[in-house]
Amino acid sequence: MTESTRFDFKHNIAKALKDLQLRKNLRSAMDGLRVKRLAVFDDADELAKLRHYGNAVKMRALNRLPDLLEQLEQKCTQNGIQVHWAETIDEANHIILEIMQRHKATKMVKGKSMVSEEMHLNKFLAQNGIEALETDLGEFIIQLDGETPSHIIVPAVHKNKDQIARTFHAKIPGAPYTEEVDALNRIARTTLRKKFQDGEVGLSGVNFAVAETGTLCLVENEGNGRMCTTVPPVHIAVMGIEKVVEKLEEVPPLLRLLTGSATGQRITTYFNMITSPRKPGEKDGPKEVHLVLLDNGRSRIYGDPQLRQTLYCIRCGTCLNHCPVYTRLGGHAYGFVYPGPIGEILTPQIEGLQAAGNLATASTLCNACEEVCPVRIPIPTLIRRVRNESYDISSAAVIPGHGYRRNPMEAIAWKAWALVNTHPALNRMGTMLAGRLGHLLPALGPLKGWTDVRSRPRFAPKSLHQLTREKGVPHA
Ligand code: SF4
Repeated sequence: MTESTRFDFKHNIAKALKDLQLRKNLRSAMDGLRVKRLAVFDDADELAKLRHYGNAVKMRALNRLPDLLEQLEQKCTQNGIQVHWAETIDEANHIILEIMQRHKATKMVKGKSMVSEEMHLNKFLAQNGIEALETDLGEFIIQLDGETPSHIIVPAVHKNKDQIARTFHAKIPGAPYTEEVDALNRIARTTLRKKFQDGEVGLSGVNFAVAETGTLCLVENEGNGRMCTTVPPVHIAVMGIEKVVEKLEEVPPLLRLLTGSATGQRITTYFNMITSPRKPGEKDGPKEVHLVLLDNGRSRIYGDPQLRQTLYCIRCGTCLNHCPVYTRLGGHAYGFVYPGPIGEILTPQIEGLQAAGNLATASTLCNACEEVCPVRIPIPTLIRRVRNESYDISSAAVIPGHGYRRNPMEAIAWKAWALVNTHPALNRMGTMLAGRLGHLLPALGPLKGWTDVRSRPRFAPKSLHQLTREKGVPHA
């Protein structure tokens, strides 16, 4: 990303903050999600144990990632699932296109999948004459409006029911205008049901892939995931390589953490476990199942023990719901697929710091995200790492684009600061000057931006050193 797109982030922030309807919609949705999460995790000891377990499961899985992926491939293949490896999003998109073309399919029905958003799959398929229809209600709404998700769990969280009513009335042929929630649901259900019958290929994400059994687990509430994975004759599942876990017994606690953190539910309405295509004698299910394993920079992230913790993420979205920045901006301001705290650490590592390093500045480091993360990712520490690497030109830095923000003048300024603070005479002189002239500083140059929206700091006329000396406190 260039300087101008970094400017766009600031522009996006200013635009989001001025949108009072967006602020209202977000506040009501975020408050609701936080209250539900608190209610479902009402036993603090149980939650602490669960989070500890979730962290341990993901740590173990990530430490053995190459082995587990091989085991997953072997088990899936034994079960009749065709496994494909994609190093880049371009490769993943072409694998899916090739499957569609082989079946002469032009209609895809999609369950919710953030990885497919990461791949910009719908746009790619549209360019190749294929219609991909989102069937998750939130995704369906934003697809009608030509938008991207603004939250990883609740993609249309930025809209209220009146806005959705207007969208349905304007974009679905024959849909009456109604603000009644049940009626809106009925319109969506009737429209989508026909589309499921026409879908030639179904696509889904994967929440957990179990290496020991080759099972693909899919969590959902609306039944659309089950429709996408059972009605069309071909099912394609896409997942980031970090979604693999070792054992089936590890899934239930992770599921409890995911559903409780995401939507405040003990369990979702549907939990699908896909282990094979339709077997002889079975009445439903696809004849072919494909699994596309996407890397897209994840192997590089895996290579660094600290950054690897980013890959523990189970995409529950609760760090977004608790982030004082996200809850005021919504997801679109972030400009990339993954917004909020997880986006601030994941996106710069995938897209590179020049493209997305500025996302890491959108944090107060208040630590709320780490306190609620069900798998205990140290998000603020990783945000600081991303920020530091933006300035780091040493060989220890690993994130693509590291050091892009390094400015020789700034480096000289920090050296001068270090010199002043390690020499008492210089420090005393600096303190005296700050006391006398400091009131001018924030009004000058780049520091002026600070005082545009904040009270100007007042420097004390005398240093603590001077005051204690005047009071006769002995100095060492
Ligand atoms: S970083 Fe943690 S809290 Fe945020 S989406 Fe991922 S698992 Fe959930």
